[in-house]
Amino acid sequence: MLLVGLCPAMNERNKTMQTLPYEKFTLLGNFGHSLRSPAYVFQPKGAEEILSVFKLAKESGLTINLRGAGKSYNDAALNSGGIVLDLQQMNRITSWDPGSGTVTVEPSVTICQLWQHVLPDGWWPPVVSGTMTTTLGGCLAANVHGKNNFREGPIGEHVTEFTTLLPTGAEVVCSPKKNGDLFRAMISGMGMLGVFTSITLQMKRVASGQLKVLALPTRTLAEQLQIIEDRAPQHDYVVGWLDCITIGHGQIHAADYLTEGEDPSPQKTLQVSYQTLPDRLFGVVPKNILHYFMTPFVNNLGWWAVNNAKYIASLRRHTMTQSHAQFHFLLDYVPNWELSYGRGGLIEYQSFLPKETALAAWTEMLNLAKKRGLPSYLGVTKRHRPDDFLLTHAVDGFSLATDFKVTDGNRARLYQLMQDFDRIVLDAGGRFYFAKNSETTVGSAKRYLGEETVAKFRALKKRCDPSGVLESDLYRRVFGV
Ligand SMILES: Cc1cc2nc3c(=O)[nH]c(=O)nc-3n(C[C@H](O)[C@H](O)[C@H](O)COP(=O)(O)OP(=O)(O)OC[C@H]3O[C@@H](n4cnc5c(N)ncnc54)[C@H](O)[C@@H]3O)c2cc1C
Repeated sequence: MLLVGLCPAMNERNKTMQTLPYEKFTLLGNFGHSLRSPAYVFQPKGAEEILSVFKLAKESGLTINLRGAGKSYNDAALNSGGIVLDLQQMNRITSWDPGSGTVTVEPSVTICQLWQHVLPDGWWPPVVSGTMTTTLGGCLAANVHGKNNFREGPIGEHVTEFTTLLPTGAEVVCSPKKNGDLFRAMISGMGMLGVFTSITLQMKRVASGQLKVLALPTRTLAEQLQIIEDRAPQHDYVVGWLDCITIGHGQIHAADYLTEGEDPSPQKTLQVSYQTLPDRLFGVVPKNILHYFMTPFVNNLGWWAVNNAKYIASLRRHTMTQSHAQFHFLLDYVPNWELSYGRGGLIEYQSFLPKETALAAWTEMLNLAKKRGLPSYLGVTKRHRPDDFLLTHAVDGFSLATDFKVTDGNRARLYQLMQDFDRIVLDAGGRFYFAKNSETTVGSAKRYLGEETVAKFRALKKRCDPSGVLESDLYRRVFGV
């Protein structure tokens, strides 16, 4: 039971911890601080050093997992008792063509580095996660989606080429046409087939550093899903905030790029200085201490009050302009906000449901959570469309991401709730996301991915990593090795 353990069960191969230098042994965590996991951490600067760690792993009989910024909510970037290759030193933008918008990066360039590099030339990354602290390698491995998934698909659809270093020592160049099977499996494959060492992406042209944002209140979940469905074809981005305690109050933000001529001073708004989120609230309170003030509200009563206040403040339909960074990276406004969840941290559960079944399934799930006294404190809804990556999480429908506080007293009950959620989602034809959910079991993964997909993934794994060096806590949990 992943939520419960300080250090999730180590597999047989990772039990020989004493064979590597002690000073490399480090306690790592997940983004939500609900897990702790010891591993030997190496920080390679390039392919040569990665190869030498592959060799070391084979000699010591340990497995290796890859880690970008470690922002996955779950155990994706952990490898209990094994080796973790922290790739953050491979963080150079190696080429940028402002004429065509094509950029080539090392894997641990962050979304922040990327947009800051390309925006002054009038480009923006076509797909970004809700935080700019993630790395491109981590984003490709999970195949992240943005608030425009219904329009632009996942990040993988904007990758023109990548180079991967396989555990066999082979360096392989992949594109949608060249080694296409590996291209579609490594993107979404959660780092289990090889290491992205170089990534080339196509950026999106923008005429301004601003977006036009329409804010609409919603009273019920049904209304929220209907508005998202109706609005998506008309806008570049659509995202909903859902109060999971009242199960319905909420707000939708629909945003559009400005067209040529709409922004009177694009030279100014395209500058990084215009975009940057202020580091002080009201120009006074340093934002990096704000999470301490949030902590007293992170409980059922406190969050009920916060949600109601937020709903009352959002009752008025209105439009505004926001910078790209303000709109996309709301979760970066309060640095380290996850610490406000306290010692046990938080987990996120994101389910993806077909548009026909979403309303009934989420109504059942949110009511169940409330009945058990375990309501989610944050709900975020998005519109999605399917894609053809091997371990895809997307559907023609919606996703709902929900955050839950973990405490010593509720871990076992939360685990049970997540299992009940999985059953409801699977019965409704839904899917899960390997970068978020902490409790997906072998059986659930097989049911949503399908036997054929799992067999294809295993065959590729055998081809790229015949001795099974690449493993993570997530991989052992969902593929049962
Ligand atoms: C506040 C917040 C908001 C988020 N919003 C969104 C969102 O809007 N949409 C969304 O889709 N996701 C979102 N996420 C999830 C996040 O985008 C993913 O978990 C992403 O994978 C994290 O990137 P990372 O660099 O931290 O990767 P890590 O967490 O370090 O690693 C993730 C996976 O990538 C693999 N990996 C890392 N580097 C490489 C490499 N070079 N080659 C091969 N594999 C590699 C690892 O093995 C691991 O399996 C959010 C997360 C947070 C914390």
